[in-house]
Amino acid sequence: MIVVMNQKANHKHINAVSQRLQRAGLQVHLSQGVERTIIGAIGDKTRKGDFALEAMPGVDHVVTILKPYTLVSRAFKEEDTVIKVGDLEIGGQKIHTMAGPCAVESREQLFEAAELVKKAGATILRGGAYKPRTSPYAFQGLEEEGLQYLAEARARTGLKIVTEVMDASTLPMVAEYADILQIGARNMQNYFLLRAVAKVNKPVLLKRGVSATIEEWLMSAEYIMAGGNYNVILCERGIRTYENATRNTLDLSAVPVIKSLSHLPIIVDPSHALGQWKYVSPMAKAAVAAGADGLLIEVHPNPAEALCDGQQSLTPENFRSLMEEIQRVAVAVGRSII
Ligand code: PEP
Ligand code: MN
Repeated sequence: MIVVMNQKANHKHINAVSQRLQRAGLQVHLSQGVERTIIGAIGDKTRKGDFALEAMPGVDHVVTILKPYTLVSRAFKEEDTVIKVGDLEIGGQKIHTMAGPCAVESREQLFEAAELVKKAGATILRGGAYKPRTSPYAFQGLEEEGLQYLAEARARTGLKIVTEVMDASTLPMVAEYADILQIGARNMQNYFLLRAVAKVNKPVLLKRGVSATIEEWLMSAEYIMAGGNYNVILCERGIRTYENATRNTLDLSAVPVIKSLSHLPIIVDPSHALGQWKYVSPMAKAAVAAGADGLLIEVHPNPAEALCDGQQSLTPENFRSLMEEIQRVAVAVGRSII
C-alpha cells in the first residue's frame, strides 16, 4: 500500500500515519519527493479499508498496489533515483561506464586495464575476484588478493571499484574493498544474499538472472530495498532464449520498461549479453540511445591471453573508439559521459 500525502502535510501528519501503519504490523518506508511525501507500507496486511487512512490529516489518497513490489515502483517514488558513489552520481545526466577485465588476474594486468579504461573515459573499474564460473575447472579468481589489487588500482587512478560478491560468508570482506557490490546473474534469486547486502551500506549492482522476468528482477531489488538499502542499480545482461547466435539475447526493451515501472537506475552489459567482442560496441551504443544510465564493458589489455571471457573483451583500441562513439550518442540523447 502507498499513502500519498498532500503538499501541506507536515512531519506530525507523516508520523501519525506511519505509527498507525506500524501498529498494524506493517513496515514503513518514506519517500521524500520534491513535491510531496509518499509512505510505502509493506507487509502481508496491506488491505486499504482496514485503516481509514484517507480520513487522517495530511493524507491525499491511498493506493492499493496491484503489483507484487512496492518500494522499487514509480508509485512509491516519482523522481528518478540518483545513486551516489563517492563523487559520482549514477542515474543522473551523466552516463557512467564500468569497465575492466572479467577477472582480476594479476597486479600488472589490473593496473594496465585500470589506466587504459580511465584514459578512455570510464569512471568505475570492474574486475572479479570471486568468479562464478560454469565449469569447476575454470579459473575461479584470486579472491582476497584480487580485492587488494582492486583497492590499489583505485588508489592509483581514482576510479571507483565494482566487484562481485558470491555469498554471505565473503560479504564483509568484499564490502571492505568495493565501492559497489555486484550481485551476479546466477545469484539474482539468492534471497539470503539479497537480504545480507540489504544490511550493508554500499550501493548494489543487481544483474538480471538469465531466465528472470522483469517482474522477478524487480522483486529481487525489492528484497534489497525492503531490507533497508535503497541504493540499487539494475543491470540488464542478456537473457536465455532459443537464439544461439549470441551468448544470450540482450533485452534492450528492459530499459524503457524498467524506466516506466521503477525509479531505479539501469545500466546495460552488452559483453555478457552478446558474448563476442565485435557485437559489443553496436549494442552499447543502442543501450545509451535507449536511455540506459550506464554501461558495463569487459576490457582486457590483451584479450587473447585472458583467463576469463577473452572472446567478449574489447582491446584497448576498440574500447577507446567505443567511448568516443558513445559520447556522440550520449549527446544526441541529451546526456554525456564526461
Ligand atoms: C560478470 O560480470 O563477470 C559476470 C559473471 O556476469 P553475469 O553474472 O552477468 O554472468
Ligand atoms: Mn565475464
